[in-house]
Amino acid sequence: MFDGLLLLNGKVYTMDGPLPRAQAVAVSGSRILAVGADDELRGLTTHGQWQVVDLHGRAVLPAFTDCHLHFLAYALKATSLSLEEQLTLEGTLARVQEYVQSAELGAWIRGWGWSDSTWPPGSVAWRQLLDGVAPEHPVVLTKKDGHVIWVNSEALRRAGVDEDTPEPPGGVIERDSETGQPTGILKEEAMHLVCDAIPSPGAKERQAALRSAVAEAQELGITGIHDCGSWQSVHDQSFSDYQEMIGRDDLGVRVFMLLSRANLDEAIKVGLRSGFGDSYLRVGNVKLFSDGTLGSQTAEMIEPFLGQPDNRGVAAIAQQELEDAVLRAGAAGLACSVHAIGDKANRRVLDAFEKQRRSGSGRGLRHRVEHAQLLDAADVPRFKELDVIASMQPIHATQDMYIADKYWGERSKLAYAWRALLDTGAHLAFGSDAPVESMDPLVGIHAAVTRQRADGDPEGGWHPEQCLSVGEAVHTYTLGAAYACGSEADRGSITPGKVADVVVLSDDIFEIQPEDILRTRVMATVFDGNIVHGEKDL
Ligand SMILES: [Zn+2]
Repeated sequence: MFDGLLLLNGKVYTMDGPLPRAQAVAVSGSRILAVGADDELRGLTTHGQWQVVDLHGRAVLPAFTDCHLHFLAYALKATSLSLEEQLTLEGTLARVQEYVQSAELGAWIRGWGWSDSTWPPGSVAWRQLLDGVAPEHPVVLTKKDGHVIWVNSEALRRAGVDEDTPEPPGGVIERDSETGQPTGILKEEAMHLVCDAIPSPGAKERQAALRSAVAEAQELGITGIHDCGSWQSVHDQSFSDYQEMIGRDDLGVRVFMLLSRANLDEAIKVGLRSGFGDSYLRVGNVKLFSDGTLGSQTAEMIEPFLGQPDNRGVAAIAQQELEDAVLRAGAAGLACSVHAIGDKANRRVLDAFEKQRRSGSGRGLRHRVEHAQLLDAADVPRFKELDVIASMQPIHATQDMYIADKYWGERSKLAYAWRALLDTGAHLAFGSDAPVESMDPLVGIHAAVTRQRADGDPEGGWHPEQCLSVGEAVHTYTLGAAYACGSEADRGSITPGKVADVVVLSDDIFEIQPEDILRTRVMATVFDGNIVHGEKDL
């Protein structure tokens, strides 16, 4: 056991205003002890046993936090059927058939990542197609955007969903126009009708999956996550899993655990407040949904989607209900994180926050809009005015840019508008939305800086006026992320007294060409004062 860790001969980007650059970092226990020049810090090693690491001039940054992901869903994805590689309907069905053949008889088949966006026009996902390849197993396939499921007849039967099942508020059970029978497509809140019937994995299975997901996160330089929970089930037990793992000292990541709306009443009753906890696990915001997605054209719009003159998307929650939830939560000390994609949804969420701010209660709560994908120009300055954090996922911009052009057209100039928001002085916090997209923060930083895909498409970037600098992008994954969960005094920069979470990168992303950010690797991750990933000798 060492008394301390000393990182020498590096290019340390502290993200700490008064001392932005340094050479060396000294760590004692789980905290940063000192930051400065090699010569200043070397003297510390005269007392006790020190682990001294020569960084050979490599760049050191505060470790990253992913401000929006669904960690258990990400972890369990590894144990379910992946359909992401299948670009055709035939390929998707063949993959399901193959998987079913090796599955236990009658066991639930969970799949992930199908998308009809590449299927030829006219092909539709029907339950009968799945019945053809999986007549006996209940099959539930989540669409790539996470807001639609495609199920077979056996799954509907086990869940008790039929032509008489009423539509739940905020959800859609797609039905055959002639027979009234469910087609096998369930959207938004209607997904629960089937997903809640799937037996949830046991604690052992969940925690094993979480452990390997934590190891993956550490390899990517992530030591903090804002876990938005599993949207497929209200029976998400991650909060207790994390506590058990902390008890065994094997969590390996700091968690800000958002609460689902279904738990709001209980949370108020027991007096839980956002921020309660310690440096490992904190009670997060209450997660609410105000609309659907761009990919499914269920985002709530001020004006209709291009080419769909009657479609202004879906309000997943009535305004009155949204305002009530924000007010009640706020009065109890719970901040809210509200999913909003369309410009109308974003406006409504800001309206709700404005009402709460005007009521004078809940001062200082770190309210957030999750995604904030499309904004009307009039709403851009309201984030700063209302002190609402924009929690965004840069990879969505480069993944969705062509769909955005198709359905939003001209309006896309204020889509994923992080530059416009930052220029007003708003707080930004970035994440990945994993498992929807890759968890890798360097992929996100690259997207934020270039607004280009990995292959450089489109040339010059998509609406490049919204690009961030590398420093601004890094801020959103470090100090901005800490601010978004009220932990900026304790983490987010390399500052004496803060937690010792840092990353060492193979290349200096502040100096290299932006396209080379994607080739940069995380050489080492320090979490809580220990090197948890990478070579001890760099
Ligand atoms: Zn999400």
